[in-house]
Amino acid sequence: MSYSFEPIGVMHSCFAEKFAIPRQPQLAPAARGMLELFAPYDKPEAVAGLEGVSHLWLLFVFHAAASGEQHVRVRPPRLGGNKRIGVFASRSTHRPNPIGQSVVRLEGIEPGRLLVSGIDLLDGTPILDIKPYVPYADALGDARNSLAESAPAQLLVEWSAPALLQAREQAQRLQQPVQELIEQCLAQDPKPAYQRPDADREYGVRFWDINVRWHYPQADRIRVLAVEPVA
Ligand code: SAM
Repeated sequence: MSYSFEPIGVMHSCFAEKFAIPRQPQLAPAARGMLELFAPYDKPEAVAGLEGVSHLWLLFVFHAAASGEQHVRVRPPRLGGNKRIGVFASRSTHRPNPIGQSVVRLEGIEPGRLLVSGIDLLDGTPILDIKPYVPYADALGDARNSLAESAPAQLLVEWSAPALLQAREQAQRLQQPVQELIEQCLAQDPKPAYQRPDADREYGVRFWDINVRWHYPQADRIRVLAVEPVA
């Protein structure tokens, strides 16, 4: 048995690379994207009724996940990267069928596109389907997961004065919540869990068309050094 699926759209996301994307949706409410719908779903009929819906389930392809060997067990970064669990106990991108699912906030409906926030999707992610979030069925008060009992602890994010100024300038230019996006994403601590940060080492990532650089003056704290448009 095999099935093939065609994307119904593509995500244009603030996340230009995988590094520093939060591990789940809603961890960075300032992470925004525009979901472009492909024909014939780019017509108003396809989204009629969504005006009354606050959140959506997006089903998508982990198109940038390394392909190759099938993994039955995986090492989730959340568990420090050295403990293995079954692939079906994880949200790893390395799965039998590279399908992801995320609940995102629906911010706006425009012709042929949906504006969303709280995303954890890379720019260019192919979207397979969209379903409305149904609170009575999808939010379960007695649900538990002992491997992920609460949202990950956050680091303190502080700013150098020039970087804060730059972030505000870029926010004006892009009309996006750039400062909040950087704070929310870096607070998740993007570097691998096993890495001990060296205060001299600089890290970088691209959000939208902006390069962000930071370092770890102490293990539990990030200092943003620069927020510059890509040259
Ligand atoms: N919420 C989804 C789920 O549970 O299926 C995704 C969880 S997965 C752990 C989140 C990570 O997937 C992000 O941190 C990012 O690095 C990665 N990611 C996002 N979009 C991707 C894509 N299109 N291809 C490969 N990896 C992607």
